[in-house]
Amino acid sequence: MKVTNAEIVISAVSQKQYPNDQLPEIALAGRSNVGKSSFINKLINRKNLARTSSKPGKTQTLNFYKINEAFYFVDVPGYGYAKVSKKEREKWGVMMEEYFQTRETLKAVFLITDVRHEPTRDDIQMYDFLKHFDLPVVVVATKLDKIPKTKRAKHLKRTIQTLQVESDDIVLPFSSETGEGKEEAWGILKQYI
Ligand code: GDP
Repeated sequence: MKVTNAEIVISAVSQKQYPNDQLPEIALAGRSNVGKSSFINKLINRKNLARTSSKPGKTQTLNFYKINEAFYFVDVPGYGYAKVSKKEREKWGVMMEEYFQTRETLKAVFLITDVRHEPTRDDIQMYDFLKHFDLPVVVVATKLDKIPKTKRAKHLKRTIQTLQVESDDIVLPFSSETGEGKEEAWGILKQYI
């Protein structure tokens, strides 16, 4: 898809703020600093529409980006920051549950993981959480450029095994640095929107 228009529509903290124009939605989830903003920016050819390296402690919001008046990317606040307080973590959980449980226009979730490392306990929890809501999940194993070609298959296999990715779900090797996987990502996206 040639992206001609991409804009942030709202940073929402609660349901009543979500857009209500019924466009299909793709959510993006992942650990803080995993490369989620870079993934969005790479797909839509923008340097910095999605804020990279969002700091902990800032208001956690669901950021709705409208793409070509055709669909939304919804940037879900990152998880896995050790320093986040219990109260903040609870608030995050309530917001996530409210969103994933009720959002009818949500078509699929792209879960971003770092292909270099074994998925963390938080990653596993997030995958299970999404499957609990029967959502289709696309696992984007990013930072592929950081792994030598000869080792990539092994790393991808570990990602699949640790998350216990269901057979209907897709695992997509990706790099925001080189753009590997970008065409495939759009191919998958188009099936959902
Ligand atoms: P976010 O917190 O998940 O939104 O993560 P960011 O997109 O801000 O990325 C965190 C850091 O990882 C930044 O320094 C990015 O430049 C870097 N990064 C993200 N994706 C890639 C990638 O595919 N390859 C490499 N080499 N670095 C990446």
